[in-house]
Amino acid sequence: MERPKIQVVVRKRPLSAREIRKSQTDIVSVDSITSLTVKEEKLKVDLTKYIEGHNFIFDHVFDQEVTNEEIYRVCVEPLISAAFDRTKITCFAYGQTGSGKTYTMMGEKNIPGLYIMAAEDVFKTLNKKSMGLKAYVSFYEIYCNKLHDLLNERQQLFAREDAKQNVNIIGLKEWGVSSVEDLMKVIDFGLSVRMVGVTGANDESSRSHAVLQISLKNGNKLHGKVSFIDLAGSERGADTIDNCKQTRIDGAEINKSLLALKECIRALDQDKRHTPFRGSILTQVLKDSFVGRCRTVMIANVSPSSLNCEHTLNSLRYADRVK
Ligand code: ADP
Ligand code: MG
Repeated sequence: MERPKIQVVVRKRPLSAREIRKSQTDIVSVDSITSLTVKEEKLKVDLTKYIEGHNFIFDHVFDQEVTNEEIYRVCVEPLISAAFDRTKITCFAYGQTGSGKTYTMMGEKNIPGLYIMAAEDVFKTLNKKSMGLKAYVSFYEIYCNKLHDLLNERQQLFAREDAKQNVNIIGLKEWGVSSVEDLMKVIDFGLSVRMVGVTGANDESSRSHAVLQISLKNGNKLHGKVSFIDLAGSERGADTIDNCKQTRIDGAEINKSLLALKECIRALDQDKRHTPFRGSILTQVLKDSFVGRCRTVMIANVSPSSLNCEHTLNSLRYADRVK
């Protein structure tokens, strides 16, 4: 049977030590490998409390103890061979700030992110049968609706559609890499560029989408591509209480791009002739992830904390509408 083009999975992270210290409780229970329940505390008119349970079903639900490795094995590894068969593989991490998107995609010290494991398998295959292919990496972010090259001093870049309606980012740096170590060095450099300007809670990285792409090329010709997108915090789109004007504009842009993304992913499995990729700069630059031979995984990251109930429900509803 042919795999569906889109797989939607949920990953719950554990409560942090700080959340436990602050007496926040775990309101997300994973009921099976495909279902979970969120227990929302509500008040009746007489102000007594009651719990409303919200059930969701996804292609896969990962409980808090599941490692990046297991998530890779289930969600990404089965797709890697397709990248050697002219298919574009795209993996999105969606969720509110602090839900575990970067932990999943980029990893942390001694915890490899999904991109590293994908690269290991890509290089394994390349070393076995190179097929004349070479791997290149690019890493950029979309911040305030503008493209910035994380591998070139955050230089602003512009996307253009060519005569064949391919969308190209003019001047984007693509580094040839021939090993996982090479790639990690390049990405660590990009991540350090990304973190410049981070000021505590107002972390800019939570307002930008980061796009890491490993392209397989035969000479100048693109053969296959594996993309990892660490999306902006989904709560940013809903930011209305923030009085800072800049943040509000950011919020509107983030909202627009996440809505456009939802529409483009939905179009994947519906054999739609028209994919509305022009709805945002994010979907525009990812056009080739939505047309032709492509496979997409959306990982919705959620926090278990009672304090984040509303954002968790919002993330799950978004993910539910994508599938
Ligand atoms: P985001 O990128 O969505 O803002 P992060 O990936 O930075 O969130 O994660 C927020 C915090 O939670 C980090 O301190 C990270 O180490 C921790 N964390 C996230 N996911 C997990 C997990 N699955 N297991 C343990 N800790 C996690
Ligand atoms: Mg992050």
